[in-house]
Amino acid sequence: MPTPTLSPHDEMNVYASAEARFEIAARKLGLEDGVYRFMRYPNKEITVYIPITLDNGRLEVFIGYRVHHSLVRGPCKGGIRFAPNVTLDEIRALASEMTWKCAVVNIPFGGAKGGIICDPGKLSRGELERITRRYTAELIEWFGPERDVPAPDLGTNEQVMAWIMDTYSMHARRTTTAVVTGKPIEMGGSQGRHSATGRGLLIVCDKAMAKFGKRRGDARVIVQGFGNVGSAAASLMHAAGYKVVGIADIHGGLYDEKGFDLPAVENWVLRQHKPLPDFPGGGTPMSAQEVLFQPCDILLPAAIENQITSENVHRIQASILCEGANGPTTAYADEGLDAKGIFVIPDILANAGGVTVSYFEWVQDREGFFWRESMVNERLKDVMEHSFDEVVRYSEAHAVNNRIAAYMLAIDRVAFVLKLRGIYA
Ligand code: NAD
Repeated sequence: MPTPTLSPHDEMNVYASAEARFEIAARKLGLEDGVYRFMRYPNKEITVYIPITLDNGRLEVFIGYRVHHSLVRGPCKGGIRFAPNVTLDEIRALASEMTWKCAVVNIPFGGAKGGIICDPGKLSRGELERITRRYTAELIEWFGPERDVPAPDLGTNEQVMAWIMDTYSMHARRTTTAVVTGKPIEMGGSQGRHSATGRGLLIVCDKAMAKFGKRRGDARVIVQGFGNVGSAAASLMHAAGYKVVGIADIHGGLYDEKGFDLPAVENWVLRQHKPLPDFPGGGTPMSAQEVLFQPCDILLPAAIENQITSENVHRIQASILCEGANGPTTAYADEGLDAKGIFVIPDILANAGGVTVSYFEWVQDREGFFWRESMVNERLKDVMEHSFDEVVRYSEAHAVNNRIAAYMLAIDRVAFVLKLRGIYA
């Protein structure tokens, strides 16, 4: 098996980080070379050219991708992002991370990811709808409840999922709700999906606190990011009795050791649409990155990648790092976290609440029977708690950190099913 390929130049390349961790885990598992190669590379990938008539009558061609990383444990699952800087490499790496994430929480999906190079902020609703429908039509044989089930990601939302579902259904000549997740509740979406990732983060933080015999009321939490994941995590943790002492979004951060009134912050940022650092309820202003290095017990980065690096890891003052974002820590910083004895709940476990409730949505669509929010939350708790226990047990049994344990557990699960299924030739 090749040796890990991470070079110092790659530190800020999330995909190099993901690959380096995969290689470390695969090596520790003693994966045989052919299986390693099978799991490292995608099953298939496609580039589609999407011709659209813009509102001004001009014809424009957009580029889109879809990558299926693995179908070993079930249909592929993964979001579609609309962003100007999307690359095939990025989509490839994110698709493989979805395979490991689904396997860590043991839901019967493989990983996929898709993207279109475009700036959704600069396109009209009509243009976005035409791009989405044509992309779906080009991929009509790829998508399907038992093939590939997309979901929202950066720059896409419930409305985009509704257009994909409708386009697919028109081609299939029947309404097929289970072809996407993250849909509006009125057309087959699941209760609880919106806050599922944040709720999952609360559940794993509770587990870590219990492991160290600490009480919620004693714990100070810093959350970077106040979007879908960060705002739900901060609000749920505040409601559960944690003291949220640091908050940040793209405009900057605030720190207050007395703790923030989260309903008031939510009202300021999400309902009044005001910049978070202007929040009038107290707190010392600082940059969104500086907030990560303030004193706390739980640090919860829930914004973007590459926030904790080999350059700044020594400044972290938390005892628990719970990764809400995908890839907030570079592979180079992992050693620093271990050296400081920080208990890490890695992204592929910590933020898996979202894909878990997406799985519940798919199950409900296929059953045609919808659950109450209390049942969704109860089942989510069961999955997250069980997965946390499995990762920690694996880490202790194999004397590796939680991140490598999560990768090993996931890779082991995929490799086991691959052996059972065998190679069709
Ligand atoms: P979002 O767009 O709703 O929110 C992102 C937040 O990060 C915003 O508050 C934004 O202001 C802030 N932000 C952006 N750049 C920043 C910067 N440089 N410094 C500080 N804050 C910054 O996105 P989201 O859905 O909340 O996703 C956040 C992260 O969680 C991403 O890494 C995403 O891939 C990951 N994730 C999301 C889900 C989900 O269910 N939405 C599930 C798993 C993982």
